[in-house]
Amino acid sequence: MNPQLKKYYIFLGASLVFSIGLQIVLGMLGVPWYISIGLVMAIFILLPMYMRRRQAGNFGGSGSGGGFFGNNGMNNSASVKYVCLVCQNKHNGGSCPRCGSKMQRADF
Ligand SMILES: [Zn+2]
Repeated sequence: MNPQLKKYYIFLGASLVFSIGLQIVLGMLGVPWYISIGLVMAIFILLPMYMRRRQAGNFGGSGSGGGFFGNNGMNNSASVKYVCLVCQNKHNGGSCPRCGSKMQRADF
């Protein structure tokens, strides 16, 4: 099974459980059902959109299979940073450690 798809199904199941739990909790709190359903629907619509946007960002950055190199731990070594124009990764200049691109802009 495609791991991406599997993750999606796990996410779907988790959000289903979460929304049912949320409905029960909201019901116990005396929130009318139409409001709790509206909330759950909003979560169902907004969360996948949010996830997809994050995923799209990741896909844009891992073109060369570099993954998460330079993602963290490098943010306090120098005052001037460069932001890769290809994957938005922050690095110390030169070529991007994540995607290898030399296209960059200074970020103060
Ligand atoms: Zn890059």
